[in-house]
Amino acid sequence: MNSKYYDVIIAGGGPAGTTAATLLAQYGHSVLLIERNQHPRFHIGESMLPMIEPVMDRLGIDWSQGNLRKGGAEFIDEATGRSTFFSFEGIYRTFQIERSVFDQKLFDNAVKQGVEAHQQEQVTRVQCSAQDVHVDTDKAEYQGRYFIDATGRNALMGKKHASINKINKLGKFALYKHYKLANTPEAEIVFARGNVQIFLSEIGWIWSIPLVGRRLSVGLVVQKEAPAELKQDALFAHYINASPRMSELLAGAEVLSEVRMEADFSYLNEQRYGQRFACCGDAAGFLDPVFSSGFLFAVKTAELVADQLHQALLIGNEADPEMQNSGDAAYQVGFKTMYLMIERFYCSGIMQNLFFEQDRHPRIKKEIEAILAGDLWQDGNGFQQGLLSGRSRKN
Ligand SMILES: Cc1cc2nc3c(=O)[nH]c(=O)nc-3n(C[C@H](O)[C@H](O)[C@H](O)COP(=O)(O)OP(=O)(O)OC[C@H]3O[C@@H](n4cnc5c(N)ncnc54)[C@H](O)[C@@H]3O)c2cc1C
Repeated sequence: MNSKYYDVIIAGGGPAGTTAATLLAQYGHSVLLIERNQHPRFHIGESMLPMIEPVMDRLGIDWSQGNLRKGGAEFIDEATGRSTFFSFEGIYRTFQIERSVFDQKLFDNAVKQGVEAHQQEQVTRVQCSAQDVHVDTDKAEYQGRYFIDATGRNALMGKKHASINKINKLGKFALYKHYKLANTPEAEIVFARGNVQIFLSEIGWIWSIPLVGRRLSVGLVVQKEAPAELKQDALFAHYINASPRMSELLAGAEVLSEVRMEADFSYLNEQRYGQRFACCGDAAGFLDPVFSSGFLFAVKTAELVADQLHQALLIGNEADPEMQNSGDAAYQVGFKTMYLMIERFYCSGIMQNLFFEQDRHPRIKKEIEAILAGDLWQDGNGFQQGLLSGRSRKN
Protein backbone atom coordinates (compact mmCIF):
# COMPACT_ATOMS: atom_id res chain seq x y z
CA MET A 1 0.00 0.00 0.00
CA ASN A 2 1.16 3.48 -0.88
CA SER A 3 1.24 5.63 2.26
CA LYS A 4 2.86 8.79 0.95
CA TYR A 5 1.52 12.01 2.43
CA TYR A 6 0.70 15.00 0.18
CA ASP A 7 -0.25 18.60 0.82
CA VAL A 8 -3.05 18.30 -1.73
CA ILE A 9 -4.71 15.32 -3.43
CA ILE A 10 -6.79 16.10 -6.52
CA ALA A 11 -9.26 13.77 -8.26
CA GLY A 12 -9.81 14.52 -11.96
CA GLY A 13 -7.21 15.50 -14.55
CA GLY A 14 -9.38 17.75 -16.75
CA PRO A 15 -8.95 21.55 -17.01
CA ALA A 16 -10.07 22.20 -13.40
CA GLY A 17 -7.86 19.52 -11.83
CA THR A 18 -4.76 20.31 -13.88
CA THR A 19 -5.11 24.06 -13.27
CA ALA A 20 -5.42 23.65 -9.50
CA ALA A 21 -2.57 21.11 -9.46
CA THR A 22 -0.18 23.28 -11.50
CA LEU A 23 -0.82 26.46 -9.49
CA LEU A 24 -0.35 24.64 -6.17
CA ALA A 25 2.86 23.01 -7.42
CA GLN A 26 4.09 26.44 -8.54
CA TYR A 27 3.50 27.64 -4.97
CA GLY A 28 5.75 24.79 -3.80
CA HIS A 29 3.17 22.36 -2.35
CA SER A 30 3.32 18.61 -2.92
CA VAL A 31 0.41 17.62 -5.18
CA LEU A 32 -0.98 14.26 -6.26
CA LEU A 33 -3.31 14.38 -9.30
CA ILE A 34 -5.37 11.25 -10.03
CA GLU A 35 -7.15 10.77 -13.38
CA ARG A 36 -9.30 7.73 -14.08
CA ASN A 37 -8.77 7.84 -17.86
CA GLN A 38 -5.66 7.99 -20.01
CA HIS A 39 -4.90 11.19 -21.94
CA PRO A 40 -5.60 11.89 -24.74
CA ARG A 41 -9.29 11.25 -24.04
CA PHE A 42 -12.25 12.67 -25.94
CA HIS A 43 -14.17 15.51 -24.27
CA ILE A 44 -16.80 17.90 -25.55
CA GLY A 45 -16.43 21.64 -24.85
CA GLU A 46 -14.35 23.15 -27.65
CA SER A 47 -15.22 26.84 -27.75
CA MET A 48 -13.20 29.04 -25.38
CA LEU A 49 -13.58 32.55 -23.92
CA PRO A 50 -10.95 35.33 -23.76
CA MET A 51 -10.85 35.48 -19.96
CA ILE A 52 -9.30 31.99 -19.94
CA GLU A 53 -6.09 33.46 -21.35
CA PRO A 54 -4.82 35.09 -18.10
CA VAL A 55 -5.11 31.71 -16.40
CA MET A 56 -3.26 30.00 -19.26
CA ASP A 57 -0.53 32.64 -18.86
CA ARG A 58 -0.16 31.71 -15.18
CA LEU A 59 0.09 28.03 -16.12
CA GLY A 60 2.75 28.82 -18.74
CA ILE A 61 0.57 27.49 -21.57
CA ASP A 62 0.83 29.07 -25.01
CA TRP A 63 -2.57 28.19 -26.41
CA SER A 64 -2.03 29.87 -29.77
CA GLN A 65 -0.22 26.70 -30.88
CA GLY A 66 -2.41 24.13 -32.66
CA ASN A 67 -5.73 25.88 -32.08
CA LEU A 68 -7.98 28.01 -34.29
CA ARG A 69 -8.19 31.69 -33.34
CA LYS A 70 -11.77 32.60 -32.42
CA GLY A 71 -13.01 36.02 -33.54
CA GLY A 72 -16.21 36.08 -31.50
CA ALA A 73 -19.73 34.74 -31.20
CA GLU A 74 -22.48 35.03 -33.82
CA PHE A 75 -26.15 34.50 -32.98
CA ILE A 76 -28.39 33.81 -35.94
CA ASP A 77 -32.17 33.53 -36.09
CA GLU A 78 -32.83 32.17 -39.54
CA ALA A 79 -36.62 32.29 -39.08
CA THR A 80 -36.63 36.11 -38.81
CA GLY A 81 -33.35 36.89 -40.59
CA ARG A 82 -31.96 38.57 -37.44
CA SER A 83 -28.33 38.05 -36.55
CA THR A 84 -25.77 39.66 -34.29
CA PHE A 85 -22.03 39.41 -33.67
CA PHE A 86 -20.11 39.90 -30.44
CA SER A 87 -16.43 40.47 -31.09
CA PHE A 88 -13.76 38.94 -28.85
CA GLU A 89 -10.95 41.12 -30.16
CA GLY A 90 -9.44 42.74 -27.07
CA ILE A 91 -6.60 42.44 -24.61
CA TYR A 92 -6.94 38.66 -24.45
CA ARG A 93 -7.19 36.23 -27.35
CA THR A 94 -9.26 33.14 -27.49
CA PHE A 95 -9.40 29.91 -29.50
CA GLN A 96 -11.46 26.92 -30.60
CA ILE A 97 -9.65 23.89 -29.24
CA GLU A 98 -9.65 20.14 -29.63
CA ARG A 99 -10.11 19.03 -26.03
CA SER A 100 -8.33 15.68 -26.23
CA VAL A 101 -5.14 17.44 -27.38
CA PHE A 102 -5.47 20.49 -25.16
CA ASP A 103 -6.39 18.62 -21.97
CA GLN A 104 -3.34 16.40 -22.47
CA LYS A 105 -1.20 19.53 -22.87
CA LEU A 106 -2.52 20.86 -19.54
CA PHE A 107 -1.89 17.48 -17.91
CA ASP A 108 1.68 17.17 -19.23
CA ASN A 109 2.36 20.75 -18.18
CA ALA A 110 1.25 19.95 -14.61
CA VAL A 111 3.71 17.05 -14.51
CA LYS A 112 6.48 19.26 -15.89
CA GLN A 113 5.84 21.73 -13.08
CA GLY A 114 6.25 19.13 -10.35
CA VAL A 115 2.84 17.51 -9.94
CA GLU A 116 2.85 13.77 -9.28
CA ALA A 117 0.18 12.52 -11.68
CA HIS A 118 -1.41 9.09 -12.03
CA GLN A 119 -3.63 8.00 -14.91
CA GLN A 120 -5.97 5.03 -15.19
CA GLU A 121 -6.59 5.24 -11.48
CA GLN A 122 -10.03 6.03 -10.09
CA VAL A 123 -10.77 7.74 -6.80
CA THR A 124 -13.43 5.63 -5.09
CA ARG A 125 -13.70 7.07 -1.56
CA VAL A 126 -12.75 10.26 0.25
CA GLN A 127 -12.84 10.90 3.97
CA CYS A 128 -12.11 14.37 5.31
CA SER A 129 -11.65 14.92 9.03
CA ALA A 130 -10.28 17.66 11.26
CA GLN A 131 -6.86 15.92 11.15
CA ASP A 132 -6.36 14.98 7.47
CA VAL A 133 -7.86 13.47 4.32
CA HIS A 134 -7.87 9.80 3.29
CA VAL A 135 -8.33 9.01 -0.36
CA ASP A 136 -8.92 5.48 -1.66
CA THR A 137 -8.54 4.57 -5.29
CA ASP A 138 -8.94 1.31 -7.17
CA LYS A 139 -5.15 0.92 -6.80
CA ALA A 140 -3.96 2.49 -3.55
CA GLU A 141 -4.66 4.62 -0.48
CA TYR A 142 -3.31 8.12 0.08
CA GLN A 143 -3.32 10.71 2.82
CA GLY A 144 -2.91 14.43 2.74
CA ARG A 145 -3.81 17.81 4.16
CA TYR A 146 -6.49 18.74 1.59
CA PHE A 147 -8.67 17.20 -1.13
CA ILE A 148 -9.86 18.87 -4.34
CA ASP A 149 -12.74 17.33 -6.27
CA ALA A 150 -12.26 18.09 -9.98
CA THR A 151 -14.09 15.01 -11.25
CA GLY A 152 -16.29 16.99 -13.64
CA ARG A 153 -19.88 15.86 -14.03
CA ASN A 154 -19.01 12.69 -12.13
CA ALA A 155 -19.17 15.07 -9.11
CA LEU A 156 -17.65 12.73 -6.55
CA MET A 157 -18.24 14.91 -3.45
CA GLY A 158 -21.60 16.20 -4.68
CA LYS A 159 -22.84 12.61 -4.91
CA LYS A 160 -21.30 11.70 -1.56
CA HIS A 161 -23.12 14.60 0.11
CA ALA A 162 -26.27 14.31 -2.07
CA SER A 163 -25.83 18.04 -2.70
CA ILE A 164 -26.40 18.18 -6.49
CA ASN A 165 -29.35 20.43 -7.32
CA LYS A 166 -30.64 20.11 -10.85
CA ILE A 167 -31.39 23.40 -12.64
CA ASN A 168 -34.52 23.26 -14.78
CA LYS A 169 -35.42 25.49 -17.76
CA LEU A 170 -31.97 25.25 -19.37
CA GLY A 171 -30.85 22.73 -22.04
CA LYS A 172 -32.23 19.20 -21.52
CA PHE A 173 -29.73 17.32 -23.66
CA ALA A 174 -27.27 17.82 -26.52
CA LEU A 175 -26.56 15.75 -29.62
CA TYR A 176 -23.38 16.44 -31.55
CA LYS A 177 -21.20 15.23 -34.35
CA HIS A 178 -17.91 16.13 -36.06
CA TYR A 179 -17.39 16.77 -39.77
CA LYS A 180 -14.59 17.63 -42.16
CA LEU A 181 -15.92 20.34 -44.45
CA ALA A 182 -15.61 20.37 -48.22
CA ASN A 183 -13.59 23.09 -49.88
CA THR A 184 -16.38 25.62 -50.38
CA PRO A 185 -16.39 29.42 -50.18
CA GLU A 186 -18.82 29.21 -47.19
CA ALA A 187 -16.40 26.93 -45.31
CA GLU A 188 -13.49 29.26 -46.15
CA ILE A 189 -15.29 32.15 -44.40
CA VAL A 190 -16.15 30.06 -41.34
CA PHE A 191 -12.51 28.98 -40.80
CA ALA A 192 -11.09 32.43 -41.55
CA ARG A 193 -13.33 34.09 -38.94
CA GLY A 194 -13.15 31.26 -36.40
CA ASN A 195 -16.43 32.38 -34.81
CA VAL A 196 -18.72 30.14 -32.84
CA GLN A 197 -22.12 30.34 -34.53
CA ILE A 198 -25.32 29.82 -32.58
CA PHE A 199 -28.40 29.16 -34.72
CA LEU A 200 -31.74 29.45 -32.97
CA SER A 201 -33.83 26.38 -33.61
CA GLU A 202 -37.48 25.50 -32.98
CA ILE A 203 -36.52 23.24 -30.08
CA GLY A 204 -33.38 24.97 -28.80
CA TRP A 205 -30.28 25.94 -30.70
CA ILE A 206 -27.44 24.59 -32.85
CA TRP A 207 -23.72 25.20 -32.35
CA SER A 208 -21.18 25.37 -35.16
CA ILE A 209 -17.59 25.42 -33.89
CA PRO A 210 -14.76 25.45 -36.46
CA LEU A 211 -11.62 23.54 -35.50
CA VAL A 212 -8.17 23.18 -37.05
CA GLY A 213 -7.92 20.78 -40.01
CA ARG A 214 -11.15 22.07 -41.67
CA ARG A 215 -13.16 20.24 -39.01
CA LEU A 216 -16.49 21.44 -37.68
CA SER A 217 -18.16 20.49 -34.41
CA VAL A 218 -21.94 20.66 -34.78
CA GLY A 219 -24.31 20.28 -31.84
CA LEU A 220 -28.04 20.45 -31.27
CA VAL A 221 -29.06 21.53 -27.77
CA VAL A 222 -32.66 20.57 -27.06
CA GLN A 223 -34.39 22.86 -24.59
CA LYS A 224 -38.06 22.31 -25.49
CA GLU A 225 -40.04 19.06 -25.84
CA ALA A 226 -38.64 17.07 -28.77
CA PRO A 227 -41.01 15.08 -31.01
CA ALA A 228 -41.22 11.60 -29.43
CA GLU A 229 -41.09 9.82 -32.79
CA LEU A 230 -37.64 11.24 -33.61
CA LYS A 231 -34.87 9.25 -31.94
CA GLN A 232 -31.25 10.39 -31.52
CA ASP A 233 -29.85 10.30 -35.11
CA ALA A 234 -33.13 11.25 -36.76
CA LEU A 235 -33.68 14.10 -34.31
CA PHE A 236 -30.22 15.51 -34.97
CA ALA A 237 -30.58 15.18 -38.77
CA HIS A 238 -34.07 16.69 -38.75
CA TYR A 239 -33.12 19.92 -36.99
CA ILE A 240 -29.73 20.34 -38.66
CA ASN A 241 -31.38 19.92 -42.07
CA ALA A 242 -34.02 22.47 -41.08
CA SER A 243 -31.28 25.13 -40.90
CA PRO A 244 -30.53 26.44 -44.41
CA ARG A 245 -27.13 27.82 -43.36
CA MET A 246 -26.04 24.56 -41.68
CA SER A 247 -27.24 22.50 -44.65
CA GLU A 248 -25.25 24.71 -47.00
CA LEU A 249 -22.13 24.49 -44.83
CA LEU A 250 -22.34 20.71 -44.47
CA ALA A 251 -22.92 20.04 -48.18
CA GLY A 252 -20.28 17.51 -49.30
CA ALA A 253 -18.77 17.27 -45.78
CA GLU A 254 -17.15 14.07 -44.57
CA VAL A 255 -18.74 12.70 -41.38
CA LEU A 256 -16.01 12.06 -38.77
CA SER A 257 -18.07 10.71 -35.86
CA GLU A 258 -21.35 9.14 -34.83
CA VAL A 259 -23.94 11.28 -33.08
CA ARG A 260 -22.93 11.55 -29.41
CA MET A 261 -25.17 12.66 -26.56
CA GLU A 262 -24.83 14.50 -23.23
CA ALA A 263 -27.83 14.85 -20.93
CA ASP A 264 -28.81 16.27 -17.52
CA PHE A 265 -25.92 18.69 -17.46
CA SER A 266 -27.47 21.69 -15.65
CA TYR A 267 -26.97 21.63 -11.89
CA LEU A 268 -25.33 23.36 -8.95
CA ASN A 269 -23.48 21.49 -6.21
CA GLU A 270 -24.83 23.17 -3.05
CA GLN A 271 -21.90 21.92 -0.95
CA ARG A 272 -18.87 23.09 -2.91
CA TYR A 273 -16.46 23.18 0.03
CA GLY A 274 -16.14 22.14 3.65
CA GLN A 275 -13.61 20.74 6.06
CA ARG A 276 -10.42 20.03 4.10
CA PHE A 277 -12.11 19.87 0.68
CA ALA A 278 -13.27 22.03 -2.21
CA CYS A 279 -14.89 21.32 -5.59
CA CYS A 280 -13.75 22.94 -8.85
CA GLY A 281 -15.17 23.11 -12.38
CA ASP A 282 -18.12 20.91 -13.26
CA ALA A 283 -17.83 19.20 -9.88
CA ALA A 284 -19.03 22.55 -8.45
CA GLY A 285 -21.70 23.12 -11.08
CA PHE A 286 -22.49 23.44 -14.76
CA LEU A 287 -25.09 25.54 -16.54
CA ASP A 288 -25.51 25.07 -20.26
CA PRO A 289 -23.20 25.24 -23.27
CA VAL A 290 -24.92 28.21 -25.00
CA PHE A 291 -22.34 30.85 -23.97
CA SER A 292 -19.34 28.46 -23.82
CA SER A 293 -18.68 29.24 -20.16
CA GLY A 294 -17.84 25.74 -18.79
CA PHE A 295 -14.09 25.72 -19.38
CA LEU A 296 -13.78 29.28 -18.04
CA PHE A 297 -15.55 28.30 -14.79
CA ALA A 298 -13.36 25.18 -14.59
CA VAL A 299 -10.09 27.11 -14.64
CA LYS A 300 -11.38 30.11 -12.65
CA THR A 301 -12.76 27.98 -9.80
CA ALA A 302 -9.48 26.06 -9.76
CA GLU A 303 -7.56 29.34 -9.58
CA LEU A 304 -9.76 30.70 -6.77
CA VAL A 305 -9.48 27.47 -4.77
CA ALA A 306 -5.71 27.12 -5.33
CA ASP A 307 -4.90 30.73 -4.37
CA GLN A 308 -6.99 30.53 -1.22
CA LEU A 309 -5.61 27.11 -0.30
CA HIS A 310 -2.03 28.23 -0.75
CA GLN A 311 -2.48 30.89 1.96
CA ALA A 312 -4.20 28.39 4.23
CA LEU A 313 -1.46 25.78 3.84
CA LEU A 314 1.14 28.41 4.69
CA ILE A 315 -0.52 29.37 7.97
CA GLY A 316 -1.92 25.90 8.67
CA ASN A 317 -5.65 26.69 8.74
CA GLU A 318 -6.64 24.48 5.81
CA ALA A 319 -8.95 22.45 8.10
CA ASP A 320 -11.17 25.51 8.62
CA PRO A 321 -14.42 24.64 6.82
CA GLU A 322 -15.02 28.36 6.07
CA MET A 323 -11.61 28.84 4.45
CA GLN A 324 -12.98 28.92 0.87
CA ASN A 325 -15.78 31.44 1.69
CA SER A 326 -14.46 34.43 -0.23
CA GLY A 327 -13.41 32.49 -3.35
CA ASP A 328 -16.79 30.81 -3.42
CA ALA A 329 -18.53 34.18 -3.11
CA ALA A 330 -16.66 35.28 -6.26
CA TYR A 331 -17.65 32.05 -8.00
CA GLN A 332 -21.29 32.67 -7.15
CA VAL A 333 -21.22 36.15 -8.73
CA GLY A 334 -19.91 34.68 -11.98
CA PHE A 335 -22.18 31.64 -11.93
CA LYS A 336 -25.30 33.66 -11.12
CA THR A 337 -24.55 36.22 -13.84
CA MET A 338 -24.15 33.49 -16.44
CA TYR A 339 -27.23 31.64 -15.17
CA LEU A 340 -29.37 34.78 -15.49
CA MET A 341 -28.02 35.48 -19.00
CA ILE A 342 -28.83 31.93 -20.11
CA GLU A 343 -32.19 31.64 -18.37
CA ARG A 344 -33.34 34.92 -19.89
CA PHE A 345 -31.91 34.07 -23.28
CA TYR A 346 -34.03 30.91 -23.26
CA CYS A 347 -37.11 32.18 -21.52
CA SER A 348 -37.45 35.90 -22.16
CA GLY A 349 -38.08 37.64 -25.47
CA ILE A 350 -36.55 40.75 -23.90
CA MET A 351 -33.08 39.23 -23.75
CA GLN A 352 -33.33 37.89 -27.28
CA ASN A 353 -34.43 41.31 -28.52
CA LEU A 354 -31.51 42.90 -26.70
CA PHE A 355 -29.18 40.43 -28.39
CA PHE A 356 -30.46 41.12 -31.86
CA GLU A 357 -31.44 44.79 -31.68
CA GLN A 358 -29.51 46.88 -34.18
CA ASP A 359 -30.14 50.17 -32.39
CA ARG A 360 -29.18 48.86 -28.97
CA HIS A 361 -27.08 51.39 -27.06
CA PRO A 362 -23.33 50.80 -27.78
CA ARG A 363 -22.62 50.75 -24.03
CA ILE A 364 -25.11 47.91 -23.52
CA LYS A 365 -23.56 45.98 -26.39
CA LYS A 366 -20.09 46.40 -24.84
CA GLU A 367 -21.38 45.26 -21.46
CA ILE A 368 -23.06 42.17 -22.92
CA GLU A 369 -19.86 41.51 -24.91
CA ALA A 370 -17.79 41.66 -21.69
CA ILE A 371 -20.05 39.08 -20.01
CA LEU A 372 -19.90 36.81 -23.08
CA ALA A 373 -16.09 37.11 -23.03
CA GLY A 374 -16.16 35.79 -19.45
CA ASP A 375 -15.23 39.12 -17.86
CA LEU A 376 -17.51 38.46 -14.89
CA TRP A 377 -15.50 39.87 -12.02
CA GLN A 378 -15.03 43.53 -13.03
CA ASP A 379 -16.74 46.40 -11.27
CA GLY A 380 -18.83 48.81 -13.27
CA ASN A 381 -20.66 46.57 -15.72
CA GLY A 382 -24.12 48.16 -15.53
CA PHE A 383 -25.78 45.37 -17.50
CA GLN A 384 -24.37 42.75 -15.12
CA GLN A 385 -25.45 44.80 -12.10
CA GLY A 386 -28.93 45.08 -13.60
CA LEU A 387 -29.07 41.34 -14.14
CA LEU A 388 -27.95 40.56 -10.59
CA SER A 389 -30.39 43.04 -9.04
CA GLY A 390 -33.28 41.91 -11.25
CA ARG A 391 -33.54 45.22 -13.11
CA SER A 392 -32.82 43.78 -16.58
CA ARG A 393 -36.30 42.23 -16.69
CA LYS A 394 -37.79 45.72 -17.02
CA ASN A 395 -35.13 47.20 -19.35
C1 LIG B 1 -22.91 19.45 -24.63
C2 LIG B 1 -21.85 20.26 -23.98
C3 LIG B 1 -21.11 21.18 -24.73
C4 LIG B 1 -20.13 21.97 -24.11
N1 LIG B 1 -19.46 22.92 -24.85
C5 LIG B 1 -18.60 23.75 -24.21
C6 LIG B 1 -17.93 24.78 -24.93
O1 LIG B 1 -18.08 24.93 -26.15
N2 LIG B 1 -17.07 25.58 -24.24
C7 LIG B 1 -16.86 25.43 -22.89
O2 LIG B 1 -16.10 26.21 -22.31
N3 LIG B 1 -17.45 24.44 -22.21
C8 LIG B 1 -18.31 23.61 -22.83
N4 LIG B 1 -18.88 22.59 -22.13
C9 LIG B 1 -18.50 22.40 -20.71
C10 LIG B 1 -17.09 21.85 -20.54
O3 LIG B 1 -16.91 20.71 -21.29
C11 LIG B 1 -16.85 21.57 -19.06
O4 LIG B 1 -17.36 22.64 -18.30
C12 LIG B 1 -15.37 21.37 -18.71
O5 LIG B 1 -14.85 20.24 -19.35
C13 LIG B 1 -15.23 21.20 -17.19
O6 LIG B 1 -13.91 20.84 -16.85
P1 LIG B 1 -13.64 19.97 -15.55
O7 LIG B 1 -12.17 19.86 -15.42
O8 LIG B 1 -14.44 20.47 -14.43
O9 LIG B 1 -14.28 18.54 -15.88
P2 LIG B 1 -13.83 17.49 -17.00
O10 LIG B 1 -13.26 18.17 -18.16
O11 LIG B 1 -15.02 16.60 -17.23
O12 LIG B 1 -12.69 16.65 -16.29
C14 LIG B 1 -12.98 15.80 -15.20
C15 LIG B 1 -11.97 14.65 -15.21
O13 LIG B 1 -12.16 13.88 -14.04
C16 LIG B 1 -11.97 12.51 -14.36
N5 LIG B 1 -12.66 11.76 -13.31
C17 LIG B 1 -13.99 11.64 -13.10
N6 LIG B 1 -14.24 10.89 -12.02
C18 LIG B 1 -13.02 10.51 -11.51
C19 LIG B 1 -12.62 9.73 -10.39
N7 LIG B 1 -13.53 9.21 -9.55
N8 LIG B 1 -11.31 9.55 -10.18
C20 LIG B 1 -10.38 10.11 -11.02
N9 LIG B 1 -10.71 10.85 -12.10
C21 LIG B 1 -12.02 11.06 -12.33
C22 LIG B 1 -12.59 12.38 -15.73
O14 LIG B 1 -12.08 11.26 -16.42
C23 LIG B 1 -12.17 13.70 -16.39
O15 LIG B 1 -10.96 13.59 -17.11
C24 LIG B 1 -19.85 21.80 -22.73
C25 LIG B 1 -20.57 20.86 -21.98
C26 LIG B 1 -21.57 20.11 -22.59
C27 LIG B 1 -22.34 19.13 -21.75
